[in-house]
Amino acid sequence: MPETTWLGKPYYSLDAWCKKNLHHKCYKVALNAHMTCPNRDGTLGTRGCIFCSAGGSGDFAVDTAGVDMEIQLAEGIRRIEAKLPRTESPCMIAYFQAYTNTYAPLPYLKKVFTCALENHLVCGISIATRPDCLPEEVLLLLSELKQRFPGKFIWIELGLQTIHERTADFIRRGYRLSCFETACSRLRELDIPVIVHVILGLPGETKSDILETVRYLNRLHPFGIKLQLLHILKGTDLENHFVNGEFDALTKEEYLDILITCLENLSPDIVIHRVTGDGPKKLLVAPLWSADKRDVLNSLHRLMKEKHTCQGKLFQHQEPPRRDSNTAEFDRM
Ligand code: SF4
Repeated sequence: MPETTWLGKPYYSLDAWCKKNLHHKCYKVALNAHMTCPNRDGTLGTRGCIFCSAGGSGDFAVDTAGVDMEIQLAEGIRRIEAKLPRTESPCMIAYFQAYTNTYAPLPYLKKVFTCALENHLVCGISIATRPDCLPEEVLLLLSELKQRFPGKFIWIELGLQTIHERTADFIRRGYRLSCFETACSRLRELDIPVIVHVILGLPGETKSDILETVRYLNRLHPFGIKLQLLHILKGTDLENHFVNGEFDALTKEEYLDILITCLENLSPDIVIHRVTGDGPKKLLVAPLWSADKRDVLNSLHRLMKEKHTCQGKLFQHQEPPRRDSNTAEFDRM
């Protein structure tokens, strides 16, 4: 049954983690540091992953304030504070969301990450990137920043989406699973927690394929996971496949069934950073039911309560994934 420290939810949410470890509710400020991505600038491709919007999966980033990170962050914080009761002292996570946020010259990365960490309201930064964009000099920069800001955290978010290479090829992810494993191993050595993004409902994937990804992640044991519903967005190549009738979007019932099975099989100490996902309404082609995020979350919580189930209910401890001699053992982040 759900742990009392999960704040009444049937899974270990980021909210619960923040309350337990930071003694605060935290808010994410989504940022656009105006980087690009090797899947878009011609290094690996020009059209990006087939589901990625022109905004580089960062359509909720503040951005209106332009490229200056200090101004953008201040604007994002101002917007969040405007919705909070005056009595609440906010704690912010600066979320480098749009595109690949370690894909820029080192001095620029140092400048934007330092700027966020120096803000007194920011308790840590979360950097969305790709495992093939974490060269040693970037890892050393992150390590250096960790030492310089010991009271704050630095997280890395990796868009794995699936462990199945055939799906990875179809979505044009552009790197192999071994690349992801090597990056996780190095981040583990540097004590930098990893949050893995997984997409539920990718074309051609069955519930059992998705479960294989979840069980693999149990063995890898990252700090956190995002279980995102596949959103079909306007202007993406995925939209063309969908419009041509090559695959169906998940129904709400199908999605909740898969999501609950994933949660039941997931280790109870992996933090759930997101379920559902945020498809920008103006770009969302399907599934349209997902636009009502509150309804999806309420349905999820109600169903899990009715089923008397929770994260980890079917979890069985497994051995870490086998890896070659170049990759180190994985432990708890
Ligand atoms: S790696 Fe991320 S930013 Fe780049 S194309 Fe894929 S989803 Fe978009």
